[in-house]
Amino acid sequence: MAYVGLGQTSASILGTAAWLILIFVLHPAAYGRLSWLFSVAMLSSSVFTFGLGVVMATSYPEERNEALPGTVVALVWLFAIAGGGVTAGLLALVAETPPDEAFFTGALVFSLSVFSIHFHVLLGRKRYEAYMWGWIGARASALLLPLLLYRALGSVPPMLLGLSASYLLFGITSLGELRHGFNLQSLRGKVAFSAKAWLSGLCGVSLNYLDKILIGLFFPLQVLAVYQFSYRVFLLLTVLPNTLFFYLLPEKSSGNESRSAERVGVGLSFVLAAAAYILAPWIASRVFPGYREGIDTIRLMGLAVVPMTVAKVKSSDLLSKRRADCVLAANLFAAGAGVFGVLFVFVNDFGLRGLASAMTLVQVALVCVLFAFPRFLRGEPRSGRGAALAGLALFSLVAAAFFRTAMPIVRIEEEGAVVQGTLFAMDTVVNVRIRMDDEVKGRALLRESFREIERIERLMSAEDEGAEIYALNANAGSWTPLSPETISLLKRAKEYGELTLGAFDVTVKPLVDFWMEEVKRRGRAPEREELSRFLELVHHRDLEIDERNGRARLLKKGMGVTLGGIAKGYAIDRVCGFLLERGVEGGLVEIGGEMRVFGSKTWRIGIADPRAEGKMIGVIPLRDAAVATSGDYRRYHLLGSERIHHIIDPRTGATAKGIISATVVTKDSLSADALSTAVFVLGIEQGLALLERIGAAGVFVDSERRVSVSSEWSARFWRIPDE
Ligand code: AMP
Ligand code: MG
Repeated sequence: MAYVGLGQTSASILGTAAWLILIFVLHPAAYGRLSWLFSVAMLSSSVFTFGLGVVMATSYPEERNEALPGTVVALVWLFAIAGGGVTAGLLALVAETPPDEAFFTGALVFSLSVFSIHFHVLLGRKRYEAYMWGWIGARASALLLPLLLYRALGSVPPMLLGLSASYLLFGITSLGELRHGFNLQSLRGKVAFSAKAWLSGLCGVSLNYLDKILIGLFFPLQVLAVYQFSYRVFLLLTVLPNTLFFYLLPEKSSGNESRSAERVGVGLSFVLAAAAYILAPWIASRVFPGYREGIDTIRLMGLAVVPMTVAKVKSSDLLSKRRADCVLAANLFAAGAGVFGVLFVFVNDFGLRGLASAMTLVQVALVCVLFAFPRFLRGEPRSGRGAALAGLALFSLVAAAFFRTAMPIVRIEEEGAVVQGTLFAMDTVVNVRIRMDDEVKGRALLRESFREIERIERLMSAEDEGAEIYALNANAGSWTPLSPETISLLKRAKEYGELTLGAFDVTVKPLVDFWMEEVKRRGRAPEREELSRFLELVHHRDLEIDERNGRARLLKKGMGVTLGGIAKGYAIDRVCGFLLERGVEGGLVEIGGEMRVFGSKTWRIGIADPRAEGKMIGVIPLRDAAVATSGDYRRYHLLGSERIHHIIDPRTGATAKGIISATVVTKDSLSADALSTAVFVLGIEQGLALLERIGAAGVFVDSERRVSVSSEWSARFWRIPDE
């Protein structure tokens, strides 16, 4: 049994490590996608193994019928092939998954099934040590192989292939069982049991994966990414309940009560939940920057380790008393509650924190039912008050946390007469605060502001297939009809192209993609000729706008527009305009570090240190104005020691060098946004001259970390001295 426990524990640690490492490698959307496909494969494979593994593991030790392993292995291989095919087909036809992703996911279903029957055979034959090494091997390979393939080929589908190969490699030896022959008679009288085992297995798998499948269907992939990340952190905590379970089950089965182990286990679970709560900010912003959204999610999910531990203790109790039915029923109930929870969160716009709370509440529900069910079945009226109270207490704990942090997608905190909310949009964090005495009205305004930002994102995204800019790029070479709003923003962008002598260029997308994706994948710097090929595709002049007919076109195929350098500013201006129209007297709108404030208050705005996260280089006062910072530290990857980042010098085709952070202050956000990107490209001298010419102010940090401030500003910029 120790081998089994050890195998399981190492497997879950290795699995968790793999998912956490992937965070450093993949874009959140790709990460979300991969977790979705993986979850689909896990669920599908457990559908298509029909509980045969458990039949093998439980019946074989009693009967020693050699025909049994051969038969189940043969059947599972057949089902696995069918299951892989069906899954791939459904994904491609119904879920509109690209063919390669669908195919590789089908392959993964096959391999997971093969691996599953293999380790059940090992269990049945009591080859526990082989079982342990099988799991460790498969998971270690599933950690390394996908990463290697990703490095070599640079896209996500091969990672699925890596996973698939790993499980197949460690499951393929099950084929050896076939030499014992195939005999359906050996399954006689086991069909009912197999069905039960199948269902209960499905419940278990659903508890772990169905939530992710549903979230992937209903929420943006980035939400799934943060959820998956937090869930993996949570899984580290579940080593405790799982180990406890594997210890208690045999102990209890042989009649030992093990009360003190239970108490210590449950006590420890509280310690773990508290530790997760305290460490969450550090984990989510220091260790995994970019997943700050995960702070609350980790905290809420961390609480689940308490009910989960109690549930494991109770399950081991029931199982040792041969009450598997109760455990099955309780799990069924919890899986149902989970589906309901995700839908409920979706319908009510409760967002990520709502999802995390739902997951934790499902564990609470599981505990309650585990305690209530056996008594209910036995018709015992008396006992159970203590258990019910404990369940209720746990429930209230999560509910309290839920209502504290899990207010709608818009998280709103009141501070005096200020209403504030946060949202994840435009690939970053949006923050709106307004002065407002009427709380209800304030919330409604925030919600409307967020809706506006999401609307603009849907319109102006270059990645989202429904967006106008996406259509413009996809149609490069011919005309695309566009809304007046998009046309006018494109016109403004072109004006900044003229004003900055080409330093700002909306058609820079092919170069951004090349540096951020292709060069990252290759891991080496491109040749000059290659860049000049791209340079031919980049010029704002070649974006033609026909305002009268409401259309625009990119002159050459292969060209592409990105509004990344200007859309945030535009959205901020729109929201400020809307709030002012509604009579809001003062407030602040911030999207990913760019912000605009309005009203009579003077705000003190910190400028981030581009090389020390969380630190500031200085503070500026801001009143009725906007500020934007462009930096090489927001999106980048390293090529040797060189930092390749997302701001391109359209004149050279390379990532802009010289400045590492450029902050611009102007009246409105759109110009601050466009200018900060432009002066980042222009460099300090030309940048300062440009700002001076148009009456704007700026603060720059160069690659030697020297700070320059435009002259008008030097008196008002308060520099934080270096330590
Ligand atoms: P920001 O953070 O406002 O400086 O904007 C950076 C984004 O603007 C990048 O992610 C690109 O999408 C886009 N971009 C990069 N270089 C340029 C450029 N030279 N002109 C206009 N947009 C650019
Ligand atoms: Mg900008």
